[in-house]
Amino acid sequence: MALRRLLAAALVSAALVVPAAAGAAQPSPIDVAADVGARYWGAVPCGGQVKVLARRPLAPGRDPADAWVTFDTPLGANNLAAPAGSYTNCTIAFARRRWPTAASMRADWGIFCATMTHELGHLLGHQHDATPGSVMAPVFTDHSSVPAMCRAARPARAARKSHRKR
Ligand SMILES: [Zn+2]
Repeated sequence: MALRRLLAAALVSAALVVPAAAGAAQPSPIDVAADVGARYWGAVPCGGQVKVLARRPLAPGRDPADAWVTFDTPLGANNLAAPAGSYTNCTIAFARRRWPTAASMRADWGIFCATMTHELGHLLGHQHDATPGSVMAPVFTDHSSVPAMCRAARPARAARKSHRKR
């Protein structure tokens, strides 16, 4: 149930990413990655109410992160001292400069999916973990932090524009 709500939220945001794909029934990379992240953790944060925001500009003065989370808690906004179960108004934002299009998310699938899983982890209360290969590594320097579930779920590349023979 909660997973379905998360995916519904992802679907809403996917409209921001995929401009009226002509009859494409292919799920968006955001939907696929959100599904993988929920399965990876075996849980969905924020009561299943997570808004995924694509193509976000960086806030002035912010570190040039590829993605980030925002949430409210009884102790104030983005306060990690509050229990994760109290988080509301949860968002995961992906930077436009890193993933400007759905095609770029597919092309950079491993890191994109690992990043979605990482941010869902934050919303579930997980902190950074410097253990090599951890999906909660503060920075992904190579593909060792990409969960096997992400590799297995790699979506098909967008169909080429060339003619399809019937
Ligand atoms: Zn992080």
